[in-house]
Amino acid sequence: MHDDTRSVTRLSVSLEGYDSLTVPIHRASTIRYPDAASFAARFERSADGYVYGLYGTPTHRYLEKKITELEEGARTLLVPSGQAAVACSILALVAAGEKVLIPDTVYGPVRDFATHELAALGIEAVFYDPVDLCALGSLIDARTRLVWTESPGSITLEMQDIPAIVLMAHAKGALVGCDNTWASPLNFRPIRHGVDIVAEALSKHFSGHSDLVLGSITTRDDTLGLKLKASLGRLGIGTSPDDCVLLARGLETLAVRLERSNASGLQIAAWLAGHPCVEMVIHPALPGNPGHEIWKRDFSGACGVFTFALKEQYADQAFVALDALQLISIGASWGGTKSLIAPSTVKGLRTVRPWTGPDYLFRVNVGLEHPDDLKDDLARFFTALTESERNEPRTAFSG
Ligand SMILES: *Cc1c(COP(=O)(O)O)cnc(C)c1O
Repeated sequence: MHDDTRSVTRLSVSLEGYDSLTVPIHRASTIRYPDAASFAARFERSADGYVYGLYGTPTHRYLEKKITELEEGARTLLVPSGQAAVACSILALVAAGEKVLIPDTVYGPVRDFATHELAALGIEAVFYDPVDLCALGSLIDARTRLVWTESPGSITLEMQDIPAIVLMAHAKGALVGCDNTWASPLNFRPIRHGVDIVAEALSKHFSGHSDLVLGSITTRDDTLGLKLKASLGRLGIGTSPDDCVLLARGLETLAVRLERSNASGLQIAAWLAGHPCVEMVIHPALPGNPGHEIWKRDFSGACGVFTFALKEQYADQAFVALDALQLISIGASWGGTKSLIAPSTVKGLRTVRPWTGPDYLFRVNVGLEHPDDLKDDLARFFTALTESERNEPRTAFSG
């Protein structure tokens, strides 16, 4: 055999005695077939079999199975992002001429997807008040194929009564989907409450280290899962096994990370609630918050992601004061080890349920730092806020 041939031919090494604790990275485009007959019959392989890299390798199967177990579903599909998880769920289930109902408090880019892509495809997207069950009930008609939910909602964290929505939707023949990113299956199991399809932005809590973008879709029954799998394959949507392995690694510490960031988050939320500059703290796990009763009834825990609002007189100084933070980074996304703060306004984003609270909102992701250090850092922010209040306002609060 010539050296060039020798260089490209595959050889086997012994795996005897090799039994590690890690998830192996199986990278592949091509899958080899033992003979021409099995190649010809490749599409008859089971849905979990191997046909081509796009449809998954053993690394993908590992992660799919893990998430399916946690969600208590029938099948999980991995997609390139949380946004893709929501978009592909809707695209795979709703056809032209049919209707999807979307909560007014949905993750912002999903609203954009609805007004651009869904509209262009002739799929009617109707936004609904996430907490008004009567209004939602009157919107579900014979053309409604899917009721999408996200609980708690983005930024303002409205809790939805998922079991009640499931009853209403199923009674009228519509499916229910849920973006479960805030809770993760460790704190809420939508499928147990009757939801048909669950989307997770794995980029957040699951990955846990702010270093990858990935999403998952888990279905309640396998028929729906297979339909979705076929659709994703035709659309050419797949994920990298390297990302899946990183995700599988993050997943191993999900429970302890959630517990820690939740405990620190509750401490900091309570501290903020007592601060003279703070108008309100929005955290479903805090007694007295709207939605707290639903959270207590349906969820088994919370996370370190919550929102607080400043008193109006501090609004103009808020942007400058944020620069005083030394430990907490300014940035979107969440679920990582490092604490983040994202200033946002929602008034312009809501079309059905106007936001009547203060519009100077700060979404906080409490990471794994010591809560006392985080409080010290936030104290720097408040000092800058009250100091600059005495000076000229320099930057207006926006976006
Ligand atoms: C971040 C997020 C998404 C999108 O996830 P990406 O992986 O960033 O695309 C979807 N839904 C919710 C609730 C999110 O917070």
